[in-house]
Amino acid sequence: METPGYIDQLRIVGGDLALDFVNTEDGDPRVECLRGYGDLVAWSVTVGLLSVGEGECLVSEANRRPEDAETVYRDALRLREALYGVFRAVAEDEAPPSRNLEILRGYECEALSRGKLVQGDGGFAWEWNDGRDLARMLWPVAHAATGLLTSGDLDRLKLCAGCYWLFLDASRNRSRRWCTMEVCGTQEKVRRYVAKRAARRDPERRSDA
Ligand SMILES: [Zn+2]
Repeated sequence: METPGYIDQLRIVGGDLALDFVNTEDGDPRVECLRGYGDLVAWSVTVGLLSVGEGECLVSEANRRPEDAETVYRDALRLREALYGVFRAVAEDEAPPSRNLEILRGYECEALSRGKLVQGDGGFAWEWNDGRDLARMLWPVAHAATGLLTSGDLDRLKLCAGCYWLFLDASRNRSRRWCTMEVCGTQEKVRRYVAKRAARRDPERRSDA
C-alpha cells in the first residue's frame, strides 16, 4: 500500500486521535491531506488505527465498491468539519455550534452500534474490527472526539498561534503556543527577528510602532 508524501510528512502532534484527524487539513496555507478514500486509509495506517494488512483489505474492498468508498470519504470530511467547529470553539472559550455537536452525536451513536466491547490487559475497550466496513476508521475517531469532549482536560486544548492546528498542551505550565516549535514556533521567531532588525535600521518606523 502506497502512502502519499503529504500524509507521510504530516506531523502527528495533536496529542489526541480526534485532533490529529482534524489536523489532516492544514489551515494556513491550506493543504488538504485527505484527497480521497485511499488517503483516509493511508492516514489510518500512519496513526496506527489500522494495520497495513487491514488497510490493504479496505483498499481492495473500496475498489470493489467505489461509490460506497466515496460516500465514506464524504462522511469523513463532514465529521472532520464538525469536529473542527466544536474543538476550535472550545479552544477559544466559546460555545460550540449545536449543529456540530449534533453531527458528532450522530457519528458516536453509529460508532457504538457497530463497536464491540472487548477485554484487554488494561480492562475493557471499544473495538471496531469489521474488515468489510469501509467506515471502520471513522468510529474510533468519533469516539475519541466524544471522549475528549466529555472527559478530556479541555483546559489544555489549544489552537496553534501560527497555523490553526489543534493540540492538547501537555506541558507542565501550559505554555505551549505552537503545534510544533520547528514549524510555527521557529517561523514566529524569524518573523520577530526580522521585524526587530527592520525597526533598528529605521528608527522612525520604530517610533511609529
Ligand atoms: Zn502551527
